Amino acid sequence: MRIVLMGPPGAGKGTQAIKVAEKLQVPHISTGEIFRANLADGTPLGLEAKRYMEAGEYVPDEVTNSMVASRLAESDAAGGFILDGYPRTVAQVGELDTILAGLGTPLDKVVEITANTDEVVARLLNRAQEQGRADDTEEVIRRRMDVYAEQTEPLVRVYSERGLLLKVDGMGSMDEVTARLLTALGA
Ligand code: ADP
Repeated sequence: MRIVLMGPPGAGKGTQAIKVAEKLQVPHISTGEIFRANLADGTPLGLEAKRYMEAGEYVPDEVTNSMVASRLAESDAAGGFILDGYPRTVAQVGELDTILAGLGTPLDKVVEITANTDEVVARLLNRAQEQGRADDTEEVIRRRMDVYAEQTEPLVRVYSERGLLLKVDGMGSMDEVTARLLTALGA
């Protein structure tokens, strides 16, 4: 299965994507994680992404798109994938369409994990204390929520019109949400 997982920052996409990927035996591809790994390794890609991530802004499409295109072309993604954090803009939707058309493998489902804003801000502040991610300060969190609402929320409608969208309630325990996701996906 080829799945895109969407949802606001703090909705639990990363955590859930790992579980669903394990269950479906497909790779979990997270653009945020790839950026963070590059940042930690001090690669040119990481250096480029750093200032955007630290401000809660999206990394420019030309950087992100080519990174995703090469990752999806790797052999482990041939049998399916969970894409977490991409696409995030309408332009990226078009790019993903092109990449997948080139590979001859269209998307099967897009899952939106829905969440209450106050709850996700609280979760992110808590994670900031525990893990100290550079983009988890309160000001940056607010910016990330706004950027999500402006740039990513419109994708819900795009995928809904294509008949690909599933909505899953992200509130509740981690296991409850995983169970809902697997049910929604028929897995
Ligand atoms: P979040 O907790 O906001 O879902 P992610 O770990 O998915 O965070 O992403 C962290 C940061 O990496 C984003 O705020 C953004 O700067 C960058 N990023 C991740 N995916 C994309 C993308 N598809 N396009 C542009 N920037 C991205």
